[in-house]
Amino acid sequence: MIFIIAWERISPYRKGLPFFRDGFWVDLVWYTIIQSYFLQILIFKYIIPVIQNCIHWHGFAFFRSWSITEQVLFFLVTHDLYIYLFHRMQHASKLLWRTHEAHHSGKEIDFLAGSRSHIAEIIINQTIEFAPIVILGAHPEVIPIKALLDAMFGMFIHANVNVKFGKLKYFLNSPELHLWHHANYREVFHANFSTKFSVWDYLFGTVYDPGRKPGDNRDNWGLYYDYPKDYFLQHAFSVKRFDEKKLLKYKWFKFYYGLRPNMIVALKKLFRLNKGATIINMHPPGDLPPSLMVADADENIINYN
Ligand SMILES: [Zn+2]
Ligand SMILES: [Zn+2]
Repeated sequence: MIFIIAWERISPYRKGLPFFRDGFWVDLVWYTIIQSYFLQILIFKYIIPVIQNCIHWHGFAFFRSWSITEQVLFFLVTHDLYIYLFHRMQHASKLLWRTHEAHHSGKEIDFLAGSRSHIAEIIINQTIEFAPIVILGAHPEVIPIKALLDAMFGMFIHANVNVKFGKLKYFLNSPELHLWHHANYREVFHANFSTKFSVWDYLFGTVYDPGRKPGDNRDNWGLYYDYPKDYFLQHAFSVKRFDEKKLLKYKWFKFYYGLRPNMIVALKKLFRLNKGATIINMHPPGDLPPSLMVADADENIINYN
């Protein structure tokens, strides 16, 4: 992650994209930390054991004779083909699109943007990814290795980095192809579905590689329709369409809608206050000579009483 963040600063694909970009905290706090934490418990402690108990099968005996590397490669390739096909279906079916639009909702794509995936999408894809590893009796180390590779590839293909893969692009996926998949153009709505191996897009004729960039305007990226910014509203929107502006007439919604932005404003104020407070003693401002009075970033004199 540190390497990719540094790379994004040194050689950005889109210049001027801020580190704390639009939706950064939703992606980090809700999708990357909280959602991932609870879903791994759900998938590994409840869903996979139930499937295992239902089928009463202990996998192929020959499979256990494979090395860990061979097993990882096997699951890497087979799951990547599955994810290509399912991803393609998500773009073709109105119902499945509801589980995938969140991933396309960001207008500023960076290393963290790939984490934005609807709960249903993660449950389906990670169950199909990890259940066979457990059921086929693969070495337990295959799971963390595979999960680490997923995280690394996920960060890489969404990273805001300028990368030219040359001939390797026909085999391995990179931001060069996947950032186009997040662009708001009709031409790419059914293209560049690959995750790790771009070879699927070349094999099945779904690659879009015009050799230029989508553009730096917000309209060039993300969805063509309005989409909520809040984690819970994003999930509610996948079940029932609504217009946030119209719902603001309800007091409870107005309260909830303003909760997150108000908290951010309050936190920013607190942060500024603390920054100021570190360089001042606790005497009331009246006791201090004017040169020691401290102003916060908005030039308001802070009252330390
Ligand atoms: Zn997609
Ligand atoms: Zn993506």
